[in-house]
Amino acid sequence: MHLHFIANAPVRSTGERTLPVIDPSDGQTYDSIQRGTAEDIEVAVSAARQCFEGPWKKLSAAERGRLMMRLSLKLSDHVDELSAIEQRDCGKPTKQARADAVALARYFEFYAGACDKLHGETLPYQDGYTVLTWREPHGVTGHVIPWNYPMQIFGRSVGGALAAGNVCVVKPSEDACLSLLRVAELAAEVGFPPGAINIVTGYGHEVGDALARHPGIDHISFTGSPHVGTLIQQVAAERHCPVTLELGGKSPQIVFADANVDEVLPVVINAIVQNAGQTCSAGSRLLVEQSLYEPLLERLGEAFTRLRVGPAAMDLDVGPLIRQTQQQRVWDFLSDAQHAGIPVVAQGTVVDEAPETGFYQAPTLLRDVPITHRLAQEEVFGPVLAAMSFRDEDHAVELANATQFGLVAGVWTRDGARQLRMARRVRSGQVFINNYGAGGGVELPFGGVKSSGYGREKGFEALYGFTTLKTVAIKHG
Ligand code: NAD
Repeated sequence: MHLHFIANAPVRSTGERTLPVIDPSDGQTYDSIQRGTAEDIEVAVSAARQCFEGPWKKLSAAERGRLMMRLSLKLSDHVDELSAIEQRDCGKPTKQARADAVALARYFEFYAGACDKLHGETLPYQDGYTVLTWREPHGVTGHVIPWNYPMQIFGRSVGGALAAGNVCVVKPSEDACLSLLRVAELAAEVGFPPGAINIVTGYGHEVGDALARHPGIDHISFTGSPHVGTLIQQVAAERHCPVTLELGGKSPQIVFADANVDEVLPVVINAIVQNAGQTCSAGSRLLVEQSLYEPLLERLGEAFTRLRVGPAAMDLDVGPLIRQTQQQRVWDFLSDAQHAGIPVVAQGTVVDEAPETGFYQAPTLLRDVPITHRLAQEEVFGPVLAAMSFRDEDHAVELANATQFGLVAGVWTRDGARQLRMARRVRSGQVFINNYGAGGGVELPFGGVKSSGYGREKGFEALYGFTTLKTVAIKHG
């Protein structure tokens, strides 16, 4: 059984209740975690506060950077161990689990280097005054993390917060938190003071809610569904606590007839099957110019048929979904599509070795999906690609912007002027031209517009969100 990790030590929950840890590859329980309580959050926030007011504040920015760099190196040394933990906990194929562990180390490397480069300014003002701005940390930051990329999201969220001088209380998902408990232990080993990184496990509506409500939390970084994002905002609004929201997406891949199809195909496929489609920035809508629609779908269909799905350890194209309810969710979307008469172009194959008790879903390509259908509007969070055609640039923009989301967009065309026009006209936090990052790029600011959230994580930009600006005006005559 895994305990919480608070003030550099394993801590038993006051509630004494546990939750099962289930392997998505076979649906079997293999471990357990604590079902935390509001009292556990109290203990963690208090430890964090003591750290912030004590040893953490005494560290210079450069010392903080060195500490974070030591953690980055330690994480690099533990890539195999961390990937193995994440693989079983989340059902990630080996390549994906490794990529996540490597990205985690890279986040700490990037933010280690950023610690002593964040500073305020001197502002021109009236004669006889000197005016300065200081970037100050919020203090104790709360981080609510989903199950799809625990290590990567911890890296970008906690890494940025620590670099800006905050301390952290983290609530990972009840479906995947083992890797983060181990990361917190490694942080303690490299010298993070007790209370700098605290992890409390349990249900969102219990510990997540308690964290968001706690008056000792000075900033909340939430990554998850739009629904819970709304709840967090409502709770935070009661005490005017600042929030960063990284919510979902229904990101379009917009392919014009002059695109290089050989380059488009592997990227479009990867953007929807990566992590079994359980990626906020998944390219889940394919918009293709009419004259290219049939030939592109034909080649894409052939490629989808070759995709293989199986247990995470087999390291195939696609692993299992996280849990049975997620599998059911995907089935519901596909069943609705069938009732609406939406044609399936192709599906991948679940291999014979996949246990029946695992949560598998073959990647599925559907065509002529009406823009108003829920398959074109809502996040499936599974390996399901909804294709539709467009007439011209205006129509492409109209379809691209016709959902509540605005996280990422891919635009494929060789026409330079069109590339820039599209980048301006599509409403999203990131636009990739002739490539698709699927949220990748530690250095690149990431976040959404509309129901995809607000605020930015990743890159140097994140540090502005993890600080508050103080203006100091000195009258000296
Ligand atoms: P979720 O919103 O159900 O849960 C996310 C986290 O919030 C979990 O830790 C959960 O325990 C917690 N939570 C649940 N209810 C809560 C409450 N009332 N108060 C406080 N915390 C609560 O999302 P999920 O199913 O874990 O993840 C999938 C969703 O996350 C998708 O919508 C996906 O697009 C989104 N996501 C977004 C990004 C991004 O960066 N934009 C990245 C990954 C996932």
